Amino acid sequence: MELINPRTFLVVANLLGMLCALVLWVQARSFPDDIEGLRDWAKAVFLIGCASGLASMRHMLPDAVSIIAASGMLLLGQFLLVIGLQRYNGRKPFWRPTLDVIGAVLILLIWLTYGAHNYQGRIFIMALAHIGFFSFGALLAWQAEPKGFGSRFLTVVFLLGVVVAVWRVATLSATVDEADEIFDYNLIQQVYLGMFSLGVLGLSIGFILLANERLRVELEFMATRDPMTGAFNRRAFFSRAAVEWARGMRSRRPLAVIAADIDFFKKVNDTHGHHIGDLVIKDYARRAAQMLRLPDIFARFGGEEFVMLLPETSLAEAQHVAERIRHEVGTHRDKALPPYTVSLGVAVAQGNAGQAADIEALVAEADAALYRAKQGGRNRVEV
Ligand code: GH3
Ligand code: MG
Ligand code: MG
Repeated sequence: MELINPRTFLVVANLLGMLCALVLWVQARSFPDDIEGLRDWAKAVFLIGCASGLASMRHMLPDAVSIIAASGMLLLGQFLLVIGLQRYNGRKPFWRPTLDVIGAVLILLIWLTYGAHNYQGRIFIMALAHIGFFSFGALLAWQAEPKGFGSRFLTVVFLLGVVVAVWRVATLSATVDEADEIFDYNLIQQVYLGMFSLGVLGLSIGFILLANERLRVELEFMATRDPMTGAFNRRAFFSRAAVEWARGMRSRRPLAVIAADIDFFKKVNDTHGHHIGDLVIKDYARRAAQMLRLPDIFARFGGEEFVMLLPETSLAEAQHVAERIRHEVGTHRDKALPPYTVSLGVAVAQGNAGQAADIEALVAEADAALYRAKQGGRNRVEV
């Protein structure tokens, strides 16, 4: 079988590394700062590319450069991949113990190159390091959020790296030491080198996919949520409610809406200040949301006004939920916040009776009930 010149592989790895580093760097600059790790990845891929470039100059440059310096850069690059993923996952990276190990590996490599002249030993120690970094990388990629295609793809690329490195170790006894004198042409060495050229590309693509998926999730969250409470905004509420409305009408199941407004909120702001007012709003949102079920939609319509949609919920059940929220808010309270109460209005579409013509009309009915609750003295539920 005709094999590719190992030098060619390494030159390709060098070029791909530089290109990928550039793409990652450009991405890092345009991404929001809370998506971390892209910069580490750009540096990592750059280092791996440089290492491949130096290794491709074997026998043209001194061994100190083409073996020792190249190995050092490769190990540092792989370590940075792991550091970047740790940062991406929101963890504090650990530098010291691994840097010490890399230092020890380099000293060992120097001895294997100049002292023992042991090519197999060098391959062995480097393969062990790759297995370590790639296994850890696979674990971190598996844990990365969101758990979409990017995370899975990246995990697979890291695992392939582990498999190839293990295979390299397993076939080590077949490698003759003279292979070092010319470039090593056997199949596994080809696959091994291929891993560095295509691996750099695969890893970069995987990480870019992953970061883009997170960006999409963040943008979607920002577009649909109220930043203060995390509740849905009005637009997101109506787009989700329209789906529930259609489903409720077709299945002839009841659909409930509860409108809620904190009582005398202006007074809270006036006596305790706007900041405490904000904390009260957050406190209410947290406690009310806790009492809802998974399919329920909880939205902030503005100020201290909230609207909840409860699919497949009858009037009696919705009234019960509203009473529980009113009771919970009125009794258990955060010691740091002033006491407050809430008024709620409940409206239900029965599915077949069809009092309300659409979801907007149903919300208006709940609002009218809320208004009656305010008129009736507040801290109460009206239907
Ligand atoms: P009622 O019992 O009739 O509801 O009386 P109220 O004082 O609560 O009256 P209303 O609902 O009209 O008052 C809303 C006030 O909430 C007006 C506004 O200054 C304040 N507000 C609106 N948005 C915010 C916010 O994000 N934070 C804070 N702290 N206050 C807000
Ligand atoms: Mg109010
Ligand atoms: Mg209000």
